Amino acid sequence: MVSAACICSITYFKTNKFLIWICHIQITIATEVSLFYDHRILPLNCPAAKVISLYKKQHHLISKMSSLFPAANSPQRHSAQAATKRSKVSLQPGHSLMDWIRLTKSGVDLRGTGPRLLEVTLEELNKHNKPEDSWIALKGYVYNVTRYCNYHPGGQAELMKGAGKDATNIFNKVHRWVNFESMLQACLVGRLVENTSFSSKKQLSLPPHSNTLSLNLASDLATSSTQLLVNVSDSNTEVSDKVIMTWNQSNTDVHVTWSMNGTSLSKYDLVCNIHDAGRLFQGEIYLENEVLMIGLELKEQVKKEISVTHNSLNNSIMVTLEKFAADKKWSILGSAMQSHCQSIPRSLHNHRYYLSHLISKTAITHDTCLYHFKLPDSCYMCVPVGYHVYLQADIGEICISRPYTIVVPDLCNVNSELLLDGRNLFMMIKAYNDGAFTSNVKNLREGDTLSISTYEGTFSISMLSLYQNVLMLCGGTGFTPMIRILHYCLHKSKKTVQLAFYNKTVEDILWMDKLSTLCMQFSGRFSIRHVLSQPGKEWNGEKGRIALAHLQDMLNACQDNVLVLVCGPMPFTEQALRYLSELGVNSNSIFTFT
Ligand code: NAD
Repeated sequence: MVSAACICSITYFKTNKFLIWICHIQITIATEVSLFYDHRILPLNCPAAKVISLYKKQHHLISKMSSLFPAANSPQRHSAQAATKRSKVSLQPGHSLMDWIRLTKSGVDLRGTGPRLLEVTLEELNKHNKPEDSWIALKGYVYNVTRYCNYHPGGQAELMKGAGKDATNIFNKVHRWVNFESMLQACLVGRLVENTSFSSKKQLSLPPHSNTLSLNLASDLATSSTQLLVNVSDSNTEVSDKVIMTWNQSNTDVHVTWSMNGTSLSKYDLVCNIHDAGRLFQGEIYLENEVLMIGLELKEQVKKEISVTHNSLNNSIMVTLEKFAADKKWSILGSAMQSHCQSIPRSLHNHRYYLSHLISKTAITHDTCLYHFKLPDSCYMCVPVGYHVYLQADIGEICISRPYTIVVPDLCNVNSELLLDGRNLFMMIKAYNDGAFTSNVKNLREGDTLSISTYEGTFSISMLSLYQNVLMLCGGTGFTPMIRILHYCLHKSKKTVQLAFYNKTVEDILWMDKLSTLCMQFSGRFSIRHVLSQPGKEWNGEKGRIALAHLQDMLNACQDNVLVLVCGPMPFTEQALRYLSELGVNSNSIFTFT
């Protein structure tokens, strides 16, 4: 399901004893490029056959890595406090994503420059800045977006802000998670260059999405190889100034433990996996504002299943790796890959994707199902409350990612959170009739696979500790980010929650029966207000959309100490924010999932 492109360069250099071989793999899935380095040390008189076999091995590694290192990043959702906002416009009929896919496959010349790729100077790019002739540069490549403008979910005006320019920065701020390489492949004009003349005949390399494998067996001396050769042998290794890694072994297992100086690591903070037939351990530790990369080439092979435990006494996380060869004593844990110990700001961190299996699909309403996915046994990821992951699929050869919040499968069961054990994930997904992506998801059957990204989000459960009351304003599936928060507030705290749930029809209300059960179970602490915008005749409850008077009523019941959570269609959220502002609610006490 995952489409990837790899560019690999292999370099080697000699010391007086060894030939050091370095493989640098660049994998692009979705919008971002992931880098992977591998190295081997060969005897100086290494026979050619060995080098060829190594090349084959690296090549195999590349194909393996393609399914393990996808990357698409992300700020799809922002808190009310976050700076960037994404807005959607209503597209004209005939301009859906599916229509765009059809157009790109129709053979229509969307480049407008013929089949050969061009080198485009900034000067030339600047000339194409009008709606009837707009080019845009993204990450070094130039696209003719004249025809795409009307299909752009953010509207033509938004896209035109980047016309005739290098729009990489704007793009990164607004939606780095979108796979534009795939989406705009048919519009590719060429590469952005500094001074070369327009229309050069020089053969150009395609951007990373284009299934090109360019292998450069250069004899240049590699310069920064030392980092690759650091053995992780110490039993107590400082991974950064904040994180400490220790390891030990029994006859059957290797245990690697991470802890932090002065603060704690929770079960959510480590995401990791084993790959390359049990030889590579990769992961990241999510710190407050940064992500610390972990990349170890293990000394010996381990079995693929990974097990992670959180020690709440010393707030450390321990990964247990089962030795492939039991009883074999490891002299060292392994070697650090170049990415090891690198710290990346959270906002710039690339997602990795895991090919996951659909375990079950349960109907919740006429158009919404609860999906239970399972990550591979070689992965571990516990998604924090209020966070989402991306599902990724190829639709008509275009790689598309969509965000979905992780939910608990049962609101009424006090132990539901335990099911989110680092491997099992639950999402509620509404299928839209014209939804290119959701109709694909709807057709998944048990056992089918789909790529699931590492998580992201900005909500912090600790925010709740400041408030006794929580007011949830939800429009339609905007209820999904509230599910785990509601579960926490009712089952794990003594907070009072009011849920104002705005839907079109009674058939659209998610988990209506479970919500009623909770109301009875937590009477006095939990209340619901259902409001329908397209009610049937039989509906006796409230009608209409979000209204100032509703909010006033609910806020009056909270005596000021209230956190307001908002999620739904964008106009709904904007309306809610306007009313809350009119009612004098402090913006610090509002969190929007957008
Ligand atoms: P929907 O179209 O069925 O609408 C649900 C209700 O929202 C309506 O009944 C109405 O009361 C209200 N509403 C809709 N348009 C409105 C408007 N213009 N002004 C005021 N109120 C309006 O909802 P849906 O199809 O379930 O879509 C839910 C939305 O929530 C989607 O846009 C989705 O992207 C968003 N969502 C966001 C997150 C997140 O975490 N950011 C999670 C889930 C859903």
